[in-house]
Amino acid sequence: MLPGPTFDRMPTADNWFAVEWLPLGVLRIWEPHVSRLLRANMFLVRGRDRDLLVDAGMGVCSLRRFLDPYLDKPVVHVLSHAHVDHIGSAHEFADDLVMHAAEADVMRDPPADLELSFDGYTPERKERLRRSGFDVSGALIAASPSPSFDPARWHIPGVEPTRLVGEGDTVDLGDRSFDVLHTPGHSPGSICLLEAATGMLIGGDTIYDGLLIDTLPDSDPQAYAVSMRKLKQLKVSTVHGGHRESFGFEKFQFLIDQYLS
Ligand SMILES: [Zn+2]
Ligand SMILES: [Zn+2]
Repeated sequence: MLPGPTFDRMPTADNWFAVEWLPLGVLRIWEPHVSRLLRANMFLVRGRDRDLLVDAGMGVCSLRRFLDPYLDKPVVHVLSHAHVDHIGSAHEFADDLVMHAAEADVMRDPPADLELSFDGYTPERKERLRRSGFDVSGALIAASPSPSFDPARWHIPGVEPTRLVGEGDTVDLGDRSFDVLHTPGHSPGSICLLEAATGMLIGGDTIYDGLLIDTLPDSDPQAYAVSMRKLKQLKVSTVHGGHRESFGFEKFQFLIDQYLS
């Protein structure tokens, strides 16, 4: 355990991951004990020949072991982008790892100075997040995944993507397929996945039902606006965002308009 009050007396979580089944064979997975700021969604989408896993959480606990009962065929693992809250367990799905080239270097060599505590954040960054309504005191986790978990040893292993994708590429599951949309702005390699046959959009951090972030060092608000105008043209029925709950077409349009105004 790290010395200091942050991790002292932290309770142990009974279940690290939470899940819910959504329509069209989509399992939403999230980490309820991760701070709200970084509590990201992962999605497992059932296909005939392959299942699709989008994003990989914080890597505090083994996602592969947790998902094992749900997996009965090969998994293609797509990263919506390479921020820390989305890539933690990517190394556990390294045989078929798909992402945009613009952030492949981050996945190969994730930042080594990551900590499970806000104490390492700069005062400016903390203040910015606080102004946006986030609690940035103490630890990034509210519980420990096991009594033996040592937060000081937490790190994100680097891994080599097996396929780099961009606008116009597809991810094929046999009986269903997803189009890759390159939507830079939140980060340079942000992608969304659109299942044209159903209108299902997996939005990563480009679009979710919460405060959209374009002020990170690798953000580009102008590119973000272009991406949002592109998304607005899409026939979308359901959006599964990188954070928070899923939503439908009207909220999708509202969130885009809100960002653009
Ligand atoms: Zn992000
Ligand atoms: Zn995120």
